[in-house]
Amino acid sequence: MKSHVSRAALVGLLLVTGPAQTGHDQLRAQAPAPDPHPTFTVGTATAQRGQRVYGVLKVPAGSDAGYDMPVVVIHGARPGPVLAVASGAHGSEYASIIAVEMLIDAVKPDAVAGTLILLPIINVPSFERITPHVNPTDNKSMNRFYPGDPNGTQTDRASYLITKEVVEQCDHLIDLHGGDLDENLRPYSYWTVTGNQKQDDVSRAMVLAFGLDHIIISADRPKDPKASRFLENTASTRGKPSFTAEAGRSGPVEIGDAAKLSAGVRNVMAHLKMGGTIAAPVRNPVWVEKIVSLTADRDGMFHPTVDRDAHVAKGAKVGIVTDYVNRPLQDVIAPEAGIIMFIRAVPSLKKGDTLANIGVVKMGG
Ligand SMILES: [Zn+2]
Repeated sequence: MKSHVSRAALVGLLLVTGPAQTGHDQLRAQAPAPDPHPTFTVGTATAQRGQRVYGVLKVPAGSDAGYDMPVVVIHGARPGPVLAVASGAHGSEYASIIAVEMLIDAVKPDAVAGTLILLPIINVPSFERITPHVNPTDNKSMNRFYPGDPNGTQTDRASYLITKEVVEQCDHLIDLHGGDLDENLRPYSYWTVTGNQKQDDVSRAMVLAFGLDHIIISADRPKDPKASRFLENTASTRGKPSFTAEAGRSGPVEIGDAAKLSAGVRNVMAHLKMGGTIAAPVRNPVWVEKIVSLTADRDGMFHPTVDRDAHVAKGAKVGIVTDYVNRPLQDVIAPEAGIIMFIRAVPSLKKGDTLANIGVVKMGG
């Protein structure tokens, strides 16, 4: 895809080298490229250049209730790329939500070239009712139903609105997540391989600029923009280099985790020449080429024996499952060697729950 910078440069080039037969054309040739976005509107928020404006995306009522999703538009003093940053698809992944709250004040519109669209809490019902993983209104994960459906349930309608108002208007998107209430997670990013070399090079450089040194390679995301499923993938399948990053663990906000995500966005902004200082990109990334997900095959009580970020050997014990009167039912064993990307943080365990995700590191990469 073309960023606004390259589009603007292209327009400038055409004006300079194209036929200039009249004085009027010559005048135009000397003028700077016109601003593609004198104002920028997302939902109820319309910002002039140099403004930070607060508003909402109004998810309309349908088969169930509607709600207002908060949005902030920071329309930089100068033109440049449009970067969207979203969090709170899972409304109890608090570190990622606080990271975006931090950005709302930290990014000064006067210092920005381009536009920052901030969606701090996509899943307001989950945030309000402290519900992990899903939107309690329709019991759907709010990162699985893109590009959405205006005639579906609340999650479908909200996803559709984000696709139209945010994804279609941006050049790049970063979706922030973290350990949910029942997950102890070590920080990492995902890099999606779309197969479009040029786009993948741009997104790879963005992920490295972001700064988290553990990067999961996602090569199995849907390629069809009409069935994009995930928010990042909705942008990626529409030709917009984008990625997902996660930090934070089970409940209370560790401010260091939130700060990592917030600083990462500032690093990407600098990398995209939207302003700020370019931090050194990750030099020695740990590329994770496969995720092995351990799932509970029975109800019980989970007792982890390792923490997030532990490096485990194949066959190592990562936890024990007992019944409700402390009789051992099962040792939970790592089927492959790798890094504990996250591990279950609570004893409650129902069949089908995730016990741990083990990242298998790419050899020689
Ligand atoms: Zn999440």
